[in-house]
Amino acid sequence: MDISQRLLNISELFYSIQGESTYAGLPCVFIRLAGCNLRCRYCDARYTYEEAHATMAMDGILSFVDGYPGALVEITGGEPLLQKDVYPLMEQLVAKGRTVLLETNGSLPIDTIAPEVIVIMDIKTPDSGSAETLAHDNTGYAKERNRKVPGSCEIKFVLTGRNDYIWARDLVNREALYMSCPTLFSPVKGELSPEDLAAWILQDQLAVRLQLQLHTLIWPHLSRGI
Ligand code: SF4
Repeated sequence: MDISQRLLNISELFYSIQGESTYAGLPCVFIRLAGCNLRCRYCDARYTYEEAHATMAMDGILSFVDGYPGALVEITGGEPLLQKDVYPLMEQLVAKGRTVLLETNGSLPIDTIAPEVIVIMDIKTPDSGSAETLAHDNTGYAKERNRKVPGSCEIKFVLTGRNDYIWARDLVNREALYMSCPTLFSPVKGELSPEDLAAWILQDQLAVRLQLQLHTLIWPHLSRGI
C-alpha cells in the first residue's frame, strides 16, 4: 500500500503549547495516537484507550501538520509505538524538515527510532501502577542516542510521592543519567506538591529538571486538546 494511504488509529490532533520536556513553552502540533498497553494509576489520557478512536490516513495527518509550518510536532498517546505505521509517519515528518518529538511510556524498545527524532521516554516508578515495565536496555539505548545526537532522548519520571522520588533519585545516580540524558522530574498533580519536590531536589543537589505541566497551568479547566 502507498505509504500516504496507511491508516493510523488517532485519538486527537491539535495545536497547542508544548507543556513538558525541555521544549516546554513552544507552539506544537500534537498527534495523539489511540491505544495504550499500560494502565497508570494517575493517567490523564484514559480516553485514548477507553473511548472509540478514529482512523486516519497518513496524508490526512500530514496535511493537518502542514497547516502549522513553524511548529514543533509531537507524536504521543496512549503509547504511539504500538502502531507500526508510526515509524513511516516519523520518517515523513523528518523528511519535511520538522522537529519531531516522540513521547513513549518506555515499555517498548526505542532502538529502532530514527536518530533525528527526539524521544521523551517515561520510566515508570513503583507507585505508578505500571512499575517494572521499562523495556530491557532502554536506558542503555537512551544514553547511546545522546552520545550520537546530544539531546535526542530525554528521560521523564512522573512522581506520586516520596517513595517514587527516592526510587527515581537512586536510579538517576546509579545510572548517572544526568551525565548523558536531559532528566525530568514531574509531580503528579494533587499527590505531590511542586514545593516538596523542589525541596528534595535541592536537598540532594540532584542535577535534574523539575517540570510542571505548563498546559495544565495555562488551561486548568480543560482536560484534552491542550
Ligand atoms: S502510559 Fe501514559 S497513556 Fe498509558 S496508561 Fe500510563 S499515563 Fe496513561
